[in-house]
Amino acid sequence: MNNNNKIALVTGASRGIGFAIAKLLSLNGFIVIGTSTNQYGLKTINNYSKSNIIGKILDLSDYNSIDNFLSNLFSEFSNIDVLINNAGITDDSLFVRMSSKSWQSVININLTSIFYITKAIVKRMITNKFGRIINISSVIGSIGNIGQVNYATTKSGIIGFSKSLAKELARYNITVNVISPGFIMTDMTKNLNDKQKSYILSNIPLNRFGTPEDIAHVVLFLSSNNSSYITGETINVNGGMYMI
Ligand code: NAP
Repeated sequence: MNNNNKIALVTGASRGIGFAIAKLLSLNGFIVIGTSTNQYGLKTINNYSKSNIIGKILDLSDYNSIDNFLSNLFSEFSNIDVLINNAGITDDSLFVRMSSKSWQSVININLTSIFYITKAIVKRMITNKFGRIINISSVIGSIGNIGQVNYATTKSGIIGFSKSLAKELARYNITVNVISPGFIMTDMTKNLNDKQKSYILSNIPLNRFGTPEDIAHVVLFLSSNNSSYITGETINVNGGMYMI
């Protein structure tokens, strides 16, 4: 795989799945820009010493932060070859108790921000006649989940977004694909109690939770030239818990 000098942007690269993606891409020849909302995350990204990862501050809940990030990014890099829209949050509650604040913040961070970031980067990919866009959805976007109406809405929205964009951008040699993880061991899932964990495990044929690296390897493939004939697809990485 010759990925040398290709530039990849990974949102939410300070922890969990995003950090694993940033590390694996950098170990495979990409120059990686990884984002965090805070200085602590920035330090984690920049301290990963074995490779070429550059940390930048980005808070997707704040339009000023998005604007500052994009102008700072384009002052350093004329083009991004690979965009991985990974950052995401949950803010769970039963629908009847869900506040409009909780609805809006999950929609803004998980979905609306992808519109802004992708739009800015796609213009340059079109000029360059090359691009790989990989959006991280969730099995919950396909099967739904109690207490996650807001989150599930964003994750299924990402699939419709990606399929439509894939059709628009194919003529420019830009592919757009989705990875839909099942239950992956990260900060996002660490608060599940034992009862919840054993219920989830009983529905996973491979009988284990996924690791961030399970997702990162699929991102690496979709980022490479080896995936050039795949677009508009959703790849489920979930140990078999949901088979289409
Ligand atoms: P995580 O460990 O909680 O990490 C979340 C990442 O998103 C962090 O790097 C965080 O940055 C960033 N982030 C949070 N709020 C942000 C904001 N307002 N602006 C910009 N970045 C923000 O989550 P994860 O489990 O790795 O999840 C990564 C992606 O995979 C998410 O889209 C998630 O929905 C999806 N996913 C996860 C699972 C799972 O089981 N873990 C399953 C399916 C899908 P800071 O450190 O700076 O806060």
